[in-house]
Amino acid sequence: MEDLKTMSFDEMNLSPDIARAIKDMGFEEATPIQSQAIDLIRAGKDVIGQSQTGTGKTAAFGIPCIEMIDEQNRSLQAVILAPTRELAIQICEEFRKLLKYKDSIKVVPIYGGQPIDRQIMALKRGVQVVVGTPGRVMDHMDRRTLKMETVKIVILDEADEMLDMGFREDIETILGKMPSERQTVMFSATMPPGILSLTKEYQIDPEHVKVVRKELTAPLIDQAFFEVNERSKTEALCRIIDMQNPSLSLVFCNTKRRVDEVVEQLQGRGYFAEALHGDLKQAQRDMVMKKFRNGTLEILVATDVAARGIDVDDIDIVINYDLPQDEEYYIHRIGRTARAGRSGKAFTFVVGKEVYKLRDISRYTNAKITKGKLPTLSDIEEAKASKFLEKVKGVIAEGQLSKYINLVERLSDDDYSTMDVAAALIKMNLYDENAVEIEEVSYTDKPRRSSDSRSKGQPERGMVRLYLNIGKANRILAKDVVGAIAGETGVPGKLIGAIDIFDDFTFVDIPREYVHTVLDGMKNKKVKGTKVNMQKAAGEQARKPLGKSAPREYSKDGKAKKKFFGFMG
Ligand code: ADP
Ligand code: MG
Repeated sequence: MEDLKTMSFDEMNLSPDIARAIKDMGFEEATPIQSQAIDLIRAGKDVIGQSQTGTGKTAAFGIPCIEMIDEQNRSLQAVILAPTRELAIQICEEFRKLLKYKDSIKVVPIYGGQPIDRQIMALKRGVQVVVGTPGRVMDHMDRRTLKMETVKIVILDEADEMLDMGFREDIETILGKMPSERQTVMFSATMPPGILSLTKEYQIDPEHVKVVRKELTAPLIDQAFFEVNERSKTEALCRIIDMQNPSLSLVFCNTKRRVDEVVEQLQGRGYFAEALHGDLKQAQRDMVMKKFRNGTLEILVATDVAARGIDVDDIDIVINYDLPQDEEYYIHRIGRTARAGRSGKAFTFVVGKEVYKLRDISRYTNAKITKGKLPTLSDIEEAKASKFLEKVKGVIAEGQLSKYINLVERLSDDDYSTMDVAAALIKMNLYDENAVEIEEVSYTDKPRRSSDSRSKGQPERGMVRLYLNIGKANRILAKDVVGAIAGETGVPGKLIGAIDIFDDFTFVDIPREYVHTVLDGMKNKKVKGTKVNMQKAAGEQARKPLGKSAPREYSKDGKAKKKFFGFMG
């Protein structure tokens, strides 16, 4: 906690105009990152500042940056680079608030998407500070509408995000055009290797200012973890959501692809879920965020980087579908809930040995993360039933049912009891065909060719057996099958279950939630030069043990196969 001591702005000897503006903004005292960074930056040091979102980083560089501008001089003196248009605008607004009593200093935002002519006109009037996205700043440099020769200070805000978005080269080009005696300041929420190498190359003797709040707003965030299997994560996620019944939840995955997969699975089960990640166009992001804000979207599935810009205060639950790779990320993720004085919950899935990594996170963040038990199917059923019955009571209270009572009467005329009719309707509403039991998990991933699944004579729980029309005769090996499926469909190889290869065909067990992905992805694809046909193995065969005892009739001709076992399409 020693790094949390704060200063008052009065102690900082700011110029009166700025001090007054800060008072108007309602800031009482400097935040920890401001307390540490402002003086260093003002003293001309290269600084690398690290703290979580919402800790006032903009003013931490904005205040000293403004203090260093020579207002008599109309040439460009400060450049701030930011990853997105929104952020550039936001920073610009904060600067203008700080400049409320100092209108001789001009700030202009420069970003893609806005007509360049308008920006050129604004720049021609003479500005001392430019806040821009790297691409557009480069553009202006090429046109010579921005001249970097007079720049005294450059600030990279959300540097880690800029690197993640692929701006490294642009940043290097821009920095390369600036005078070498300039001051270089970076702010970043995390310190991945890319940032460290940027620091090494472009900063001179930098001061690293780091403020990690070890004690989060933890009392308000209820934190639990669940030990799950990779393949039961989606089921576990759905159960938690069904049980907790949150209005807004935020689900974190480690990669864009995972985000898409999870969204697809959730949508397939009827949840209002959408993805937020770096591959989306700005307009798509805006759309998703709008839906999330107005509540038409219940579940947002995001990567760490994409979630950075989420400014929604009433997220009830954060779920770490994947354990975050970095302790800092854990803090950032769960900090999305319990904002503005509300309470919130954070749930984390751990697979196998990840439980040890979670222990490190828990130590690092000083947070108590309790072991949770997933709701069972009957818990969910009970919760759904109570909710449903409440809804029924509401509908009855509203009245205006005569039209429907007529329909019930029609059935009673046919000798059905109203009790049976009501029960059937409830069944139609509550029955969940996707519900599957989650198996107990052990600390290690099960080996692929699990022999106990064979002795039980059926695919492991949660797995579906697929038929593939090639076999030993095509000289395929298990690794070819895994390679083909993983390569064509993106389903991680380690999730693929038992594989049994016969003369002319093969059976493969696939987690239920990936069946469609695999069937779609394998359509018209070739394995070892042979065009494959993949379908669900049905009836008997889906339940028979895999092994040498499988009847030979399989391998002979297709017709016999169909007749004996049938295939679902
Ligand atoms: P970050 O960049 O670290 O995510 P911002 O600079 O966007 O954080 O600041 C988050 C919010 O906190 C803004 O609304 C900002 O005006 C406000 N803020 C910044 N500094 C202070 C302060 N010293 N006291 C109170 N509020 C502050
Ligand atoms: Mg910021």
